[in-house]
Amino acid sequence: MYLKSLELLGFKSFAKKSVFDFTSKISGIVGPNGSGKSNVAESFRFVLGEQSIKSLRGKRGEDLIFNGSKIIPRSNRASVKILFDNTKRFLNIDFDEVVIERAVYRDGINQYFINNSQVRLRDIAELLASANIGSSGHHIISQGEADRILNANIKERKEMIEDALGLKVFQYKKQESQKKLQKTEDNIIQIELLRKENAPHIKFLKKQVDKVERSIIMRDELKKLSLEYLKRESEYISFNKKKTKKAQKAPQDELNALEEKLQKAKEILSKSSKSDEKSDELIIQEKNLSDIRARKDALTRELGRIEGEISGENRRIEKEKETQKIIENRTVNYNELNKVVEQVYSQIDDAKEKNDISEIKNILLSIGSIIKDFISITFSKDKDNEIDYIELENLKNKKIEIDKNLLNVLRDESLYNERYSILKTKIEAEKDDSREAEREVFSVMSRQSQLRAILDKFESIENDLIHKKQDFEIELQEIAVLVGRAALDYDKYNLGIGLEEIANEERQIQEDRRRKIEKIKIRLEEFGGGSGEEIIKEYKEATQRDEFLEREIADLEKSASALKDLIKDLEERLSIQFNDGIEKINKEFQNFFTLMFGGGEAGLSVIKEKKRKKMDINIISDVENNPEETQEDEEEGIDIFVSLPHKRTKGLVMLSGGERALTSIALLFAMSQVNPPPFLVLDETDAALDEANSKRYGDMIENLSKYSQLILITHNRETMSRAGILYGVTMNSDGISKLLSIKFEEAVQVAK
Ligand code: ATP
Repeated sequence: MYLKSLELLGFKSFAKKSVFDFTSKISGIVGPNGSGKSNVAESFRFVLGEQSIKSLRGKRGEDLIFNGSKIIPRSNRASVKILFDNTKRFLNIDFDEVVIERAVYRDGINQYFINNSQVRLRDIAELLASANIGSSGHHIISQGEADRILNANIKERKEMIEDALGLKVFQYKKQESQKKLQKTEDNIIQIELLRKENAPHIKFLKKQVDKVERSIIMRDELKKLSLEYLKRESEYISFNKKKTKKAQKAPQDELNALEEKLQKAKEILSKSSKSDEKSDELIIQEKNLSDIRARKDALTRELGRIEGEISGENRRIEKEKETQKIIENRTVNYNELNKVVEQVYSQIDDAKEKNDISEIKNILLSIGSIIKDFISITFSKDKDNEIDYIELENLKNKKIEIDKNLLNVLRDESLYNERYSILKTKIEAEKDDSREAEREVFSVMSRQSQLRAILDKFESIENDLIHKKQDFEIELQEIAVLVGRAALDYDKYNLGIGLEEIANEERQIQEDRRRKIEKIKIRLEEFGGGSGEEIIKEYKEATQRDEFLEREIADLEKSASALKDLIKDLEERLSIQFNDGIEKINKEFQNFFTLMFGGGEAGLSVIKEKKRKKMDINIISDVENNPEETQEDEEEGIDIFVSLPHKRTKGLVMLSGGERALTSIALLFAMSQVNPPPFLVLDETDAALDEANSKRYGDMIENLSKYSQLILITHNRETMSRAGILYGVTMNSDGISKLLSIKFEEAVQVAK
């Protein structure tokens, strides 16, 4: 026996604390009309969580509280406590005794307690559902409600039967899982949306990171190439400088010595009294030769300088060509392009508003110029970038001019030389001192001319080296900007070969290195400065977050699929147990019905409401497997069919009041037999029974009490006789229900 006691305080007519101890399998509650017996049945409903005040015969919560009488003031609070023995843990809570309490106050506030701890209504509902004492109240039959199950619609009936079969627990679990599933699916959608939103940004960052990575690789390559190039170049320049310096020394010394010799010879010559016409002529020729050579030397130097400038100019042009090629292949930034598209669309939106064709034309022109501006900004080849060939042309023209002049000078020189030789031959023929001096002058000058030519060559080499040194300095600075101070350490770079070998390397190879460096430099400048650390960090964070979200989705999908499995499993169990339960109830229903009416037929069938298509229980599963037979707006429910013995009429509507009562009792008992609730409260269910049926009713009650405790409110003598304990409820003029434990004989008396 699970039900131990019920305590009422301030509930309806029970102003004072009244306790029912249910020490017997069958407890009877008797008393005159209006003494408060039905209030007891209602107190059961109330404490178990009934939310419909109407079904407790009230309009508001306040109606449940003792309202006072002439001599006793009203109460402010109504409370009912029900005590269960839980040593067998029929309630899923770890206490040997469980007290459930509900209280209501005049302001309509309700409080719920389990073992004196305040809880939510839901906690009570869940606790009771697992013990088959659900809130539909199939086990508490109020006065005049015996045929409630017959009056209910098919859906309500189904709920009552599910409740009686103890399937509410699965329903709760299913609803809970469905809610969780919905929430999980919402979460998945939200996270997927978030990932979709982030995707373009990640894609953009990825491109930036690729660029940064490529520029890192290029910087490394540039560094390596540069160190070798710079080392080689600096070694080449300094080696050749020294070499030239050294080579210049001997001819310069000789030239200096010859100058002295020449001065002396000239002195002799000028002192010579016999200086004749020929000597004068020789001096003129000599002067001519000297002038022409000076001019030749000047032109040669000029030529060297111009050639140097031409090669510098060629390098500049080549670099600009590379730059342009890269500008032409430049990729358009997505964000910039998007901005232009937005501008164009905004103009188009403006145009849509206009009717005046000239305004629309203006807008079209403006769209044109937006696009033109974008292209010219993105692929701009401004004036500064246009390759300037004029300087090169000028230099080349100058060189042609110099070449021409030099040719003339050389021709003159050879002419003067020839004249000079002829004169010299003549003078030689006249062997005198002055001629000797003249010869000396001639020989010295001839040697001087040779030496000057040699020195000129060295000078031009030196000039070239100066140019190279200047180029080298510029190159070094540019590289340092791109690869950092490491470039300045080129001097420490070990080539592993000797100076001679470096200096003698084919110049074209070094030139190729320089070109390669130039290309990388231009591309790096295109990528822009900065180490890109920020971008890499942002990309890493963004991808990590995306991966996290991806894992999150996978986890959510896993739990969604687990929930779906659970729901499917619950549905299957519900369906199996429901069908199984219906079958069992039907068997018992038929038994009780036969017992009550001495024959006939009664049963339940599962139907779909819209179609009103009757189905045999045995074919339900076939229908469920065939979706064409079912429709979305159909509702499943329970129909009852009865056929009384010896009567032609069939169906519930044809039954008399007594027959209805007997039928509903049969069904009620059948339900209780299949899945016995811990207790059953029956409020005057036996009211309509005649003597013979009262006897049968009594027998069935005794049988039923083997499975469930029974609380019977009755005026029926036969029923009273079956109770193990009897409570009398009386009400005096004070309007308060009083409780007394009585004997059977007294009960018969009290009931009157
Ligand atoms: P019957 O045998 O005729 O069915 P009963 O014993 O079942 O009668 P109840 O219907 O339980 O009687 O009790 C009704 C009594 O309870 C009435 O006298 C009614 O005035 C009283 N009652 C109901 N609500 C309150 C309340 N809030 N305060 C005081 N008395 C109340």
